[in-house]
Amino acid sequence: MMFQQTFVTATTPTGGETRPSVHRRADAVVSLIAQHRAAASASRRFADLADRSLAAKLAAEDAAVETGLSPFERLTCTAHRRWIHQCIASPEHASPVTGHRWCRDCQCAVTVAIDELTGDVTMACPRCRRTPKGIATRQIVSACRASLATVHDHRAQPAPSMLHFGERRPA
Ligand SMILES: [Zn+2]
Ligand SMILES: [Zn+2]
Repeated sequence: MMFQQTFVTATTPTGGETRPSVHRRADAVVSLIAQHRAAASASRRFADLADRSLAAKLAAEDAAVETGLSPFERLTCTAHRRWIHQCIASPEHASPVTGHRWCRDCQCAVTVAIDELTGDVTMACPRCRRTPKGIATRQIVSACRASLATVHDHRAQPAPSMLHFGERRPA
């Protein structure tokens, strides 16, 4: 009788919620090690790039994507090894699947205009002249604005006021 009762109590909790905190701490350490490994291999990947601030950001964002950053929110492009505003015009950045740089009405790639001077980023379909609505367009515009601002920040000594980069012009 005694034995059976013990047996039942021991096998009942199957929830997974009741893991000892030691295991949770071990998980945190493992994920920290994974982050360090990812960062180290990423910085080796861009060791040959002359622009060291670009290389550092590429490495940091590659590692961040592995631990949860959306690839569509990064300021650098790991495929072209550039700041995103420098290669967003490439055909590889137009995707009918995700809707990035894509006009669904016209089934064609959308053009991105980058104004390096003012930091302005605008998108328009070459056929219907409209800007596709939705999160894909917002992600591209904000990533390009941020990458432009970062590059200008690095170049300018001392850094000029970047206030105008945050402003959104009425479409
Ligand atoms: Zn690219
Ligand atoms: Zn269109």
